[in-house]
Amino acid sequence: MALIVQKYGGSSLESAERIRAVAERVVATKQAGNDVVVVCSAMGDTTDELLDLAAQVNPNPPAREMDMLLTAGERISNSLVAMAVAAQGADVQSFTGSQAGVITTERHGNARIIEVTPGRVQEAVDQGKVAIVAGFQGVNRDTKDVTTLGRGGSDTTAVALAAAMKADVCEIYSDVDGVYTADPRIVSDARQLEQLCFEEMLELAASGSKILVLRSVEYARAWNVPMRVRSSYSNDPGTLIAGALEDIPVEEAVLTGVATDESEGKITILGIKDVPGEAAKVFRALADAEINIDMVLQNISSIEDNTTDITFTLPTADGDRALEMLGAMKDAEGWDDIAYNDQVGKVSLVGAGMKSHPGVTADFTEALRDAGINIDMMNTSEIRITAVVRQDDLAEAARALHTKFELGGDEPAIVYAGTGR
Ligand code: ASP
Ligand code: MG
Repeated sequence: MALIVQKYGGSSLESAERIRAVAERVVATKQAGNDVVVVCSAMGDTTDELLDLAAQVNPNPPAREMDMLLTAGERISNSLVAMAVAAQGADVQSFTGSQAGVITTERHGNARIIEVTPGRVQEAVDQGKVAIVAGFQGVNRDTKDVTTLGRGGSDTTAVALAAAMKADVCEIYSDVDGVYTADPRIVSDARQLEQLCFEEMLELAASGSKILVLRSVEYARAWNVPMRVRSSYSNDPGTLIAGALEDIPVEEAVLTGVATDESEGKITILGIKDVPGEAAKVFRALADAEINIDMVLQNISSIEDNTTDITFTLPTADGDRALEMLGAMKDAEGWDDIAYNDQVGKVSLVGAGMKSHPGVTADFTEALRDAGINIDMMNTSEIRITAVVRQDDLAEAARALHTKFELGGDEPAIVYAGTGR
């Protein structure tokens, strides 16, 4: 008997009708002879609506109360799914994150899972019940307060639970059929992928693909939990994410896909002294403010005055905060200036095949050249090439790379409701 964890995103639970459809799938999976644990996101746009409500009563709500509020979203969908499953005659029991043993750090709004102790969930499963667990939430042992895992955190709940219960697979349901070679809303001939390895999915998620939350893929890789991305609107088998990069035979390694990211901006510090420790000051200050930086570029220093420029990208959501902080350091450090550009975008090409194919960078840059797109910054990993370009050029850059590397399929991609959540 297999144990299957199924996670349903908000778009799969947006109405009573959709919840009944989910319950049908859950019960069918159970009746096919599997043990089933279900993880629910909040219905539709509930989380956004709750955030909006909170802002109307307090522009700066206490983080603990915010988590009390947001965790209610998943409790609602969770109990409704349990009721719908019960209506189909199956034995069922729902659990909050805390009841399911999801233990987290105490950081409200962005807690990390420390461990999962799913004793009660396991017991329910052993009794032949379908267990339904509220996603996106946990509890801290010291404060005893409920926490949330950051936006999209139900993916992480599902994978962590699957790991703790040694599930055979963790299925992630949304309103798209799987992982595509590019965002089908940007690249019309994007093709659905049958399978990719954890590292490829990690690179795609880190490069702006929104199909899975990065942390959930990190977890899946660490615990070797196969994930299947599927649609709750169809019976397509979806995309399997499993296996390690080093286990892919060279002849099977291909280029997987293109991802775009509009969420980052770029800061340049001009005229920073080119001596040991100057960069460290900048990045320590950013780290202390919990600002995640992504790409970093430092120029060679100018001969006249031994100063250099440092450029880095960061989430535009943190842009103002970073500018304020660096602005306060500028005079004391003797920097010439600080420049900020939030009209940039990141386009990335990912694939295990890059390891063994020389010339991918040449083709990548030529594709952008032929599309008349200027490259602002570049960086690479073993299986990824990323360029920062003007935000207005981003979609065209994705299409140019997708075409150049022949990633497309013959048919236009089917996107049901189209959010991928
Ligand atoms: N409901 C939460 C959110 O919208 C968590 C999730 O959907 O996974 O971010
Ligand atoms: Mg949601």
